[in-house]
Amino acid sequence: MAGLSPATATIALGQLLNAMPDYAAKLTFANGKTLELRGPADITKETTEAIVNAANSSLLGGGGVDGAIHRAGGPSILQECRRIVAKIGTLPAGKAVITTAGRLPAKYVVHTVGPIYRGGQHEAAALASCYRESIGIADDHGITSLAFPSISTGAFGYPVHEAAAIALRTAVDAMPACAHVEHVRFVLFDAATCKTYVEAAEKISRESQPNSVIFTKGHS
Ligand code: ADP
Repeated sequence: MAGLSPATATIALGQLLNAMPDYAAKLTFANGKTLELRGPADITKETTEAIVNAANSSLLGGGGVDGAIHRAGGPSILQECRRIVAKIGTLPAGKAVITTAGRLPAKYVVHTVGPIYRGGQHEAAALASCYRESIGIADDHGITSLAFPSISTGAFGYPVHEAAAIALRTAVDAMPACAHVEHVRFVLFDAATCKTYVEAAEKISRESQPNSVIFTKGHS
């Protein structure tokens, strides 16, 4: 910025920051729907209509993203979870339920239970089911935008590169049939997870029909 006055330099920097996309990468589909990857970022701050919680079967809260969502959202979410468990029992891996979002910026929380990784085929099907069921329940509630964390890749030990491929493929396949869900966002807590998801998204676009999915890289 040599030769610019400090005020001009500040404006130029501001314009540059404004012009920078806030996503790490994005897939845009022919029908205008989008799948965005963000990170490092905290899902409790998300302004999508719904966020997804990587819950455990008890639905009574836990560590990781589950703990963060209940802390930030306040006790009303847990009260609703208790009512659900009283009615239907504990939630098996791959299933999803929905509550309101208490004090969170989002309006709803979709709670889904990821599989604990043991290295076999059952976990892949259960993980895909988490994404499919979460998108399905959101669509049933007329929700247009939904944010996911990286389900099962924390305490549940799923290798991130395997989980990322399943997560993105399932979301890409589930979105076209949705009447309401238009935007899906993956909110990835750490840079390494975000990078792995970006690579998986790029691979999906490379393997798709020409012009059916456009891959855009944002900030790195
Ligand atoms: P699981 O039990 O399904 O593995 P975890 O909560 O342990 O769930 O981890 C899932 C992913 O969520 C991990 O990548 C973890 O780093 C991430 N995570 C933890 N806290 C947050 C948060 N506040 N926002 C987004 N992702 C988070």
